[in-house]
Amino acid sequence: MVMTATKTKWVYLFREGSGDQKDLLGGKGAGVAEMTRAGMPVPPGFTITTEACRQYYADGRKFPQGLWEQAQEALKDVEKATGKGFGDANNPLLVSVRSGAKFSMPGMMDTVLNLGLNPETLGGLERLTGDERFALDAYRRFVQMFGKIVKGIEGDIFEEALRGAKKLAGAKTDPELTPADLRQIVEVFQAIYRDHTGEAFPTDPMAQLRAAIEAVFSSWNTDRAIAYRRAERIADDLGTGVNVQTMVFGNMGEGSGTGVAFTRNPITGANELYGDYLVNAQGEDVVAGIRDTEPIASLKKRLPAVYKEFEQYARKLESHYKDVQDLEFTIERGKLYMLQTRNAKRSGEAAVKVAVAMHKEGLITREQAVARVEPRQLEQLLHPRVDPNVKEKPIGKGVPASPGAATGQAVFDADTAEEWGKLGRAVILVRVETNPADVHGMIAAKGILTSTGGTASHAALVARGMGRPCIVGANQIDVDLRAREFSSNGTTIKQGDEITVDGTTGNVFSGKVTTIEPKPSAEFNTLLSWADKIRRLEVWANGDYPRDAEKARANGAQGIGLCRTEHMFMEEERLPIVQAMILAETTEEREKHLAKLLPLQRSDFNGILKAMKGLPVVIRLIDPPLHEFLPNREELVRETTELRITKKKAKRLAEAEKLLARVEQLSEANPMLGLRGVRLSILYPEITRMQVRAIIEAACDLKKKGIDARPEIMIPLVGHINELRSVKAELEPVAKQVQKEKGVQVHYKFGTMIEVPRAALTAGEIAKDAEFFSFGTNDLTQTTFGYSRDDAEGKFIGRYLEQKILPRNPFETIDSGGVARLMGIAVKEGRAARPGLEVGICGEHGGDPESIKICHDLGLDYVSCSPYRVPVARLAAAQAVVAEGSTSR
Ligand code: ADP
Ligand code: MG
Ligand code: MG
Repeated sequence: MVMTATKTKWVYLFREGSGDQKDLLGGKGAGVAEMTRAGMPVPPGFTITTEACRQYYADGRKFPQGLWEQAQEALKDVEKATGKGFGDANNPLLVSVRSGAKFSMPGMMDTVLNLGLNPETLGGLERLTGDERFALDAYRRFVQMFGKIVKGIEGDIFEEALRGAKKLAGAKTDPELTPADLRQIVEVFQAIYRDHTGEAFPTDPMAQLRAAIEAVFSSWNTDRAIAYRRAERIADDLGTGVNVQTMVFGNMGEGSGTGVAFTRNPITGANELYGDYLVNAQGEDVVAGIRDTEPIASLKKRLPAVYKEFEQYARKLESHYKDVQDLEFTIERGKLYMLQTRNAKRSGEAAVKVAVAMHKEGLITREQAVARVEPRQLEQLLHPRVDPNVKEKPIGKGVPASPGAATGQAVFDADTAEEWGKLGRAVILVRVETNPADVHGMIAAKGILTSTGGTASHAALVARGMGRPCIVGANQIDVDLRAREFSSNGTTIKQGDEITVDGTTGNVFSGKVTTIEPKPSAEFNTLLSWADKIRRLEVWANGDYPRDAEKARANGAQGIGLCRTEHMFMEEERLPIVQAMILAETTEEREKHLAKLLPLQRSDFNGILKAMKGLPVVIRLIDPPLHEFLPNREELVRETTELRITKKKAKRLAEAEKLLARVEQLSEANPMLGLRGVRLSILYPEITRMQVRAIIEAACDLKKKGIDARPEIMIPLVGHINELRSVKAELEPVAKQVQKEKGVQVHYKFGTMIEVPRAALTAGEIAKDAEFFSFGTNDLTQTTFGYSRDDAEGKFIGRYLEQKILPRNPFETIDSGGVARLMGIAVKEGRAARPGLEVGICGEHGGDPESIKICHDLGLDYVSCSPYRVPVARLAAAQAVVAEGSTSR
């Protein structure tokens, strides 16, 4: 152990590294190494490895043994390469100390520029450049950055002081400040530093360097860096590299400048050099947005030779990396320096366009093109979006939970949303949070905004399932449900006021802002057609209405994996019948009400089966506990009490009392584990008999019209084979009877959901009676973990994720250790008992790319997801194949 500790190579000169060492050197370090290797003009420097950063944390925030010595050694090499000396008053070497992890985390970690300045080297810099003002400006920036980044002094304090000094000097912009002003500002900044740290600003360049390296290590674990990693699913244990690099100066007059450029347009994907240039400025000015930049094309006019050289490097780097590069460069007195190259972050639109174009240009294979696009990015392309060029400023921001933009009048309760929606008004439902009682309002709303909750909250899930734009956790928004208004950053929005929510960015706007309609591009269709050729999994969609089925088909779905029938019970004109049916005291009476529901259900099924003609439609028989169809208990208690006191409306009182008695009778301690699913069919077989009749009648009617309807009847929540047998014995005769009555035979199946562990574990038995399986992974996750989802997500999953007790929210991505294992058993034993058994998944996981990979690996036949996510799933299913490396080129 001691051996390795002393021998570990913690430091690599740029010329020693290479582009494929992102793990060790970080993305930035690997990039500069690769450019150095390719002979491009990169200011000399060295990289401290990510391994050193990991060791630093492992050792309790101490430099690993040998690191500092190796860094000093490398610095000597840099001095030799540049002919300058670190701390040399006559010819000072200044460096930048830059963070850089394996995956780029833009703006998350910090960089210190101009390090090595002190009163002596400042003099040297003045003499060498003959520019006192420049040198003082560099010093000013250094003190500020060092104070802020290394010592954690709030940046605003320096900015405030700078503003004050400018005002005093009568200067509007930084360049108007004289050397004398700057000298003064440096002194003020150093005084701020002393006040906050209790020590003098360090003059020893070595001490500065050591502190800056340590600060970069520390910046790996700032709150914002941790939050970013969580959002981007980057592991917390990678660590960052530290790049120490010779400074070059873009702020040495008109022949100098700095810029960032993309080898292709990262917003549209167009094949053009795209970026910003700032004349006479240092790199951080471009990013900070302090001064208005010029488009990169202006460099072509100002310094044509430099532009040409840069263009050439850009092209070379792109074809080397075979991907769009994000480049940083600086021009010091007419000489170009390359400071960074990395794979560019891009919009969904650009991602698709670039992937397809690069294949057509022969840079990458189809498989690579398909693997290149982040599946979630496709979703962004399918929803209307706020035009990225709008001038309006958002009034608030939350967590983007379901993409797309919507404009409408703010409403604060679900009933109003529904009422106004029926009048044809566009509404946005604004709540603190939502729960199942709000669903009718969510359906009626064009968009949803909540002030609490995360991406896994009820609002987020439901909105995504419905394809409604949604923002959650907008905590600057103060919702007053009683007053029916919210205020956000000084703006008050009352009920009826128009707002726009952009669920792609999380921005909330007052009023209407311009949106753009998505129109899948030719490239989008091309990419998906490639994905379709590659993938093995079929992609089906969940949908309850014909309109869902149409959307699903348009997006390429190959079946309906889950059609829930209970939504059909909730609709306004039906609910009273459903309630009467539940209140019925005898089976006969219940059947009377069910007879009224039959034609309604039949027409529902007719619509969806027709829309999906030729393709399978899995229809799930009634699943939720019956009390969900009855009014809320508290409300009934209130109503009956009121009516008793006022002694008016005796008839209504009697009704309400009856309802209340039934609600109380039906109430359960644990409805999720109570009388629902197949258990309902066993206690009230007449309900599901009616449903099966409606399904088969609809299918027969269609068949007679020459339409190929393919219903698959799914029995939920089976845990024991006898449950399935008992229900099938009730239902199968109904199906036969209907066909006899109608005089046609239709294609149908009886199958079951696998959503409790016992079903998975006894799948071999169950498959004898089930013609298909569909994993209900939401319930399967709940029952495998013993969590109730709402309680878990509301109370403890957040903490579990923070403390890494769970690696992932198992309700978002299938738990690979437990739930996936049960699924594996069910697939294997089910297919052993019934060869060719159709197996799919209809839980929300069916649209999650990582879960889709698990389903692919388990050998499922299809995944089923929200119609809007079908393209996402098609791509993810193809990527699962590419990841396997099993396709031919
Ligand atoms: P980020 O990852 O946030 O882009 P960087 O380490 O790239 O951080 O640095 C921030 C800014 O400082 C960039 O504009 C970069 O060009 C500039 N910069 C970094 N190192 C140097 C250097 N050696 N000489 C001149 N400018 C530099
Ligand atoms: Mg950078
Ligand atoms: Mg279920």
